[in-house]
Amino acid sequence: MGPGRPLPPPRPTHRDTDPMATRYPLPILLLYLAALAAAPAYAWDGPAPGLPAPIGSHANGCIAGAAALPAEGPGYQAVNPGRRRTFGHPELVDFVKGLAAQSAEAGLGTLRVGDLSAARGGRLPGTHASHQTGLDVDVWLEMGRAPLPPGMLDGYDFPPLVDAATRRLDPQRYGPAQTALVRLATGDGRVTRVFVNPAIKLALCQSAGEDRDWLRKVRPWFGHAAHIHVRLACPADAAACVDQGPPPEGDGCGEELAGWLEPPPGTPPARPPAPPPEPPAACLDILGLAGGQPGPTPQPTPAR
Ligand SMILES: [Zn+2]
Repeated sequence: MGPGRPLPPPRPTHRDTDPMATRYPLPILLLYLAALAAAPAYAWDGPAPGLPAPIGSHANGCIAGAAALPAEGPGYQAVNPGRRRTFGHPELVDFVKGLAAQSAEAGLGTLRVGDLSAARGGRLPGTHASHQTGLDVDVWLEMGRAPLPPGMLDGYDFPPLVDAATRRLDPQRYGPAQTALVRLATGDGRVTRVFVNPAIKLALCQSAGEDRDWLRKVRPWFGHAAHIHVRLACPADAAACVDQGPPPEGDGCGEELAGWLEPPPGTPPARPPAPPPEPPAACLDILGLAGGQPGPTPQPTPAR
């Protein structure tokens, strides 16, 4: 999710995308996202019982035994707490708290934490295709200011840091604090990917110098002009969790990134979007979908 106009689709060679999105060029991807937004989704008030267990993939799964990130804590505030997307695997909650502590220590200001997962995971209303197993979290890039008053946290919108016309960073909005945040996120061994706008990846590639290993985890993706999306790998004991695998070798600054920044080679053939996939069987009970029965509480689709 996030404001800002998506960039053109990348060349079809890179293998780092959301599994649902990879198959479609941008116009079809937008249709797919619209279908996701229109499809029913269900929210539970609390986590499914049991030990923490992510099931399925980041883009098609659920979680039992999720933990809740408190709406506010040292160094961070959860944005849109009323949407109750503050649940995740305990390792994700621990990661967010740790990132907030490190950011505060580095003088980066209060972290504005976006969506984690719903209480039982599963597909979120709106345009998220992932965030389904309690292992993904969005962190907004607007930093270094005072905490927002609690009344402003629901529905607050953050402006993009990428100029939509030039597809390059707005130097008035993006600076060393944002780079430091991305760097801190990649430094956690549980993190497998940090998705950013291609313009952000470009700036990081150009400024990194000799120390470049951390860039491997920084992956370009559509949107993400106002927030980063941090993904943890499946925890070691999560037998039913389907991992994405490590990112490609190297810093990802060469041809792969150029594919994101160049205009698309032509108009791709139109194909109808596939409907969202059936959740893993082990998620049907957790999400209240067993027997074709929907879950308890239809959640309104947000306007953005
Ligand atoms: Zn996200």
